[in-house]
Amino acid sequence: MDTYNHFINGKSVAPADGNTLEVTSPADRTPVAKIALGTAADVAAAVAAARSALDEWRSRKPIERGRVLLAIAAKLREDNAHFARIESAQSGKPAFQSPLEVEGAAAYFEFYGGLVNLPAGEVLDLGPGFHTYTRREPFGIVGVITPWNAPINQAARGIAPALAAGNVIVAKPSEFTSGTTVELARIAVECGLPVGVLNVVLGTGEQAGAEIVKHKDVRKVAFTGSLRAGKEVGAIAAERIIPVTLELGGKSANLVFEDADLSQAVPGSLRAFVGNAGQVCSAGTRLLVHESVIDSVLQGLKIGAEKVEPGQAIGPMTTAMQYAKVCEYFDIAKQEGLTPVVGGTPVPSNSGGYFVPPTIYRIESPESRLFKEEIFGPVLAVMAFKDEAHAIELANSSDYGLAAGLWTTDLARAHRVAAALEAGQVYVNDWIAGAIEIPFGGYKASGIGREKGIEALHHYTQLKTVVVKI
Ligand code: NAD
Repeated sequence: MDTYNHFINGKSVAPADGNTLEVTSPADRTPVAKIALGTAADVAAAVAAARSALDEWRSRKPIERGRVLLAIAAKLREDNAHFARIESAQSGKPAFQSPLEVEGAAAYFEFYGGLVNLPAGEVLDLGPGFHTYTRREPFGIVGVITPWNAPINQAARGIAPALAAGNVIVAKPSEFTSGTTVELARIAVECGLPVGVLNVVLGTGEQAGAEIVKHKDVRKVAFTGSLRAGKEVGAIAAERIIPVTLELGGKSANLVFEDADLSQAVPGSLRAFVGNAGQVCSAGTRLLVHESVIDSVLQGLKIGAEKVEPGQAIGPMTTAMQYAKVCEYFDIAKQEGLTPVVGGTPVPSNSGGYFVPPTIYRIESPESRLFKEEIFGPVLAVMAFKDEAHAIELANSSDYGLAAGLWTTDLARAHRVAAALEAGQVYVNDWIAGAIEIPFGGYKASGIGREKGIEALHHYTQLKTVVVKI
């Protein structure tokens, strides 16, 4: 069993009050890690380390910061197997999947390592007599709080652009999947990142996470997680008047029109909700299908879903709580009188693993809880629509608005519907959530701000205007 301490000022640091948490494998419930449980004292030590590293890091030439980020990308690639082993052990991800997520993390460092000079200002014209310009400056100490569904990937998503922009960091991964974020901080120092620039405090959200958001020297927080915790983080940030990026939940709509190429739409829609066993914020979990093709779409999805083997193609639910939640929705479906097209009961497991099968329900009312609520498992709610206006109305009826997809061969419709959908990303004739180069974030309750792409750099910098009388 691996033991993980905090990583503060370039060193492994035991928790101030000595408390630890044992983490078990979601695939077979064997103990896999013991992690430090951080408190305010640990957060204070991490913030102090970050503060003392800030001046040197933010005043480095951007190209020199970029060189360190590129070295981290190369090291992540070199050590991919090491990171993938930890990720699979703690999250339950199948062995083929974790290396892809580590590669995604490397790509974030590569992408932002190459963009270090981009957060530049503008020259503005106040008329003769003035030289006026803007500067994009780092916030200083940034808190990066991440969930358990794509641990190394989401850590890199926040850490790489924040570092590129000249910030220093106190990160807190999920208490269930802490290992790879600690390891990332460790190899970053090996790659030339000055000690104190990237610190990791482990522990629960209520203790360690909230303490980071509350700390008076933390000037910005990038939070990824549930709507519930996002509201708590947002409330503390509002009290302190600090900016937050909130990347929260989703119940993303995927629309299949009568003119769609079903040979593409059916497998694409299956991928959209079963990937990572549905534990994806941007999963396409509400499928809206034109009434003339819904039967053939459902039949194709059923055949496809039956071939997705839990334990092989998809891993377990990563936490006991998440497993209980998905099982609860199987019961809610029964109470609503819904019969699953496929799935609908947990996978029996001798090892006690938290496995659930891909599950599909045909829904008649948009008031169904299966249609409205984020489940965060491989569970799809499918509804028929009459026409384009009806499809858009159903898609936009959600409180969430993270991603959306549509399948059509009508080019004009593709653009018209993409413009009408209330979502931060819209995919046409594919479901490609995951690209790091394009801005990602929520409309409505799915969040505030944007991660990924060049856009993220704007969220890790603040704008200063300088007016010089000449
Ligand atoms: P969670 O909100 O329980 O935890 C996320 C992180 O926040 C963890 O590190 C946790 O310890 C911490 N936390 C919890 N309460 C906190 C508090 N009061 N103050 C500070 N930190 C706190 O979420 P989860 O169960 O780990 O992840 C699943 C959720 O994350 C889903 O709702 C999913 O949609 C969402 N998610 C969103 C994105 C996105 O980019 N939009 C990506 C992945 C997951």
